[in-house]
Amino acid sequence: MRVTIFGTRSYDLQFLTAANADHGHELRFLEAGLDPVTAPLAAGSDAVCAFVNDCLDAQVIELLAGFGVRIVALRCAGYNNVDLAAAARCGIAVTRVPAYSPHAVAEFTIALLLALDRKIHRAWSRVRENNYALDGLVGRNLHGRIMGVVGTGQIGALVAKTLRAGFGCEVLASDPVADPALEAIGVRYTSVDTLLREADVISLHCPLTPDTRHMINATSLAKARPGLVVVNTSRGALIDTKALIDALKARSVGGVALDVYEQEAGIFFDDLSSEIIDDDLLQRLLTFPNVLVTGHQAFLTEEALSAIAQTTLGSLSDFEKGLPLAYQILPVGQTTP
Ligand code: NAD
Repeated sequence: MRVTIFGTRSYDLQFLTAANADHGHELRFLEAGLDPVTAPLAAGSDAVCAFVNDCLDAQVIELLAGFGVRIVALRCAGYNNVDLAAAARCGIAVTRVPAYSPHAVAEFTIALLLALDRKIHRAWSRVRENNYALDGLVGRNLHGRIMGVVGTGQIGALVAKTLRAGFGCEVLASDPVADPALEAIGVRYTSVDTLLREADVISLHCPLTPDTRHMINATSLAKARPGLVVVNTSRGALIDTKALIDALKARSVGGVALDVYEQEAGIFFDDLSSEIIDDDLLQRLLTFPNVLVTGHQAFLTEEALSAIAQTTLGSLSDFEKGLPLAYQILPVGQTTP
């Protein structure tokens, strides 16, 4: 199949090219992200491969359909950026990679939490200046603290298990579907409100939906335990960033570790070190000593990239052969393609 790959970075090129040895698709790598202006670059392709911040709204979907695109293969798990109803209307199939390496994201979540809590990012920059003073670097043990995990699917379950079984934390969880294996090791399911009231740390692992958008907002933060640490490696818009900044300024939130940010599209995944950034919320966040931000890299391991590439190209091969698509995403309420 002729495949146009939007938003290509060096690691996409490396892992998709390697995986394509098993598939033989004609891959066309573009650096540009997908939006209404760049959509015509897909003309002549059977398939488009897109990532988390590419725009796949109704306008882009209709443009792609007009250019003959028949399938969009997302090389990520989340699909909140896709208008699935428009895709169904235009006869475009949409696939994703539901599970590539939940370990990659879960391990990164714990790494971010530890780095923030033990001030490793600040220690690293001090030592590079030969400043070995420890003042201001006092952290807290994870052991014995109350952790709140929102969403105990593949990633959240690993985080909850690691915090409970590995670090000896008390773990509260919130998910419409309880995981009996977690309950068996002492994870306690409760509401998000109770979790906010009781937990020292809240880590978000639920998908972004209209229901979960801004689930962390001024009202929920007002209920939270003073000094709450907020960790988000899921999707940026789960948090109302302005409300989070207000809570940091009020010293009611004690620390924030983010791998995702609600306005990250157009900023993350690019080197903007010589640019002036217009986004005042992100710039304000970066000024707090108790905030640690990374640019959506939790998935970025060799294992995950290799699995993403294989699954993405495998879906395209299945589509080409007319086989059922194991990882097709359908609009809400639709059960068959
Ligand atoms: P998953 O589908 O396995 O688990 C999601 C869980 O959230 C499910 O158990 C679901 O029941 C639960 N949930 C749904 N609505 C909820 C709500 N309102 N409150 C509490 N729980 C709710 O997904 P996953 O593979 O564990 O991934 C979780 C999220 O991580 C994805 O949605 C994606 O946005 C994000 N992600 C981020 C990266 C990264 O690089 N930062 C990489 C992969 C995935």
